[in-house]
Amino acid sequence: MVTINENYLKLPGSYLFSEIGRRVARFKAEHSEATVISLGIGDVTRPLPPAVIESLHEAVDEMARPETFKGYGPEQGYGFLINKILEHEYRSRGIELEADEIFISDGSKCDTGNIQEIFGLENVVAVTDPVYPVYVDTNVMAGRGGDLSASGGFERIVYLSCNAENGFIPELPKKRVDIIYLCYPNNPTGTTLSKAELQKWVDYARENQSVILYDAAYEAFIREEGVPHSIYELEGAREVAIEFRSFSKTAGFTGTRCAYTVVPKSVVGYTRDGKAVPLNQLWNRRQTTKFNGVSYIIQRGAAAVYTPEGQW
Ligand SMILES: *Cc1c(COP(=O)(O)O)cnc(C)c1O
Repeated sequence: MVTINENYLKLPGSYLFSEIGRRVARFKAEHSEATVISLGIGDVTRPLPPAVIESLHEAVDEMARPETFKGYGPEQGYGFLINKILEHEYRSRGIELEADEIFISDGSKCDTGNIQEIFGLENVVAVTDPVYPVYVDTNVMAGRGGDLSASGGFERIVYLSCNAENGFIPELPKKRVDIIYLCYPNNPTGTTLSKAELQKWVDYARENQSVILYDAAYEAFIREEGVPHSIYELEGAREVAIEFRSFSKTAGFTGTRCAYTVVPKSVVGYTRDGKAVPLNQLWNRRQTTKFNGVSYIIQRGAAAVYTPEGQW
């Protein structure tokens, strides 16, 4: 008898966005006259920038010639894209990272969902509330959620309320937590954290040997001074934070698929007997085993985002 991962049965209904999609489709079918403004899953509305399209076309032509054809690429991503990221996203803000601390992927949804695999099941997970559902659901699937409680939350997950009363700024947890998901600028509230507010979380993680999983998918929309673009602008963050970035919102890549995750070699997790292990090593092992890299063509398209024309 084949048994299933029963953690999946703990998830209420289907994935939130599929459920919203289903309801919207049903409503539209029943009310063809109605103009529906959907506040469910967001998507970009503009086509890819011309510089990206041009680069994609060139890369397709390269695949047609024996001298320039590409087969399997590096699982972690091509150097030409990683170097552009290092230069334009980090060095330009005074952050020095190494090429093997960047992992190119096919999306931040996948990365923020997959990253929990490298952590032990006994960890206590904290999320801001409301939250992007991927963080919670993937931990529930792995067995870190416990059961759904009457209040609608999972009993082993620590929810950090963000509401009008606290100005949508989460407070440090009263109970010790190990894995902290932060997303800034935030989906769904649209709020940001100042450097001082974010520093509290970095300090908390350092004091408690916790890790921060920092989703910065909306980084490109920051216009205000004093709002960190990267968590690595904060003191000590390189010891405790993994950062997720995506071309989805920055450059309209939701359907094209390209993102990256930064895992500094100084970020560690611990064995049960307290030995520190670099998370970079574990994530590299995970990616090289389960992922075969983003298509060369798509990475060439993403690299064009960093040309002057691509920055429109
Ligand atoms: C859109 C979004 C992402 C990016 O997802 P991709 O898989 O890269 O398209 C990540 N996190 C949040 C919170 C988002 O809203």
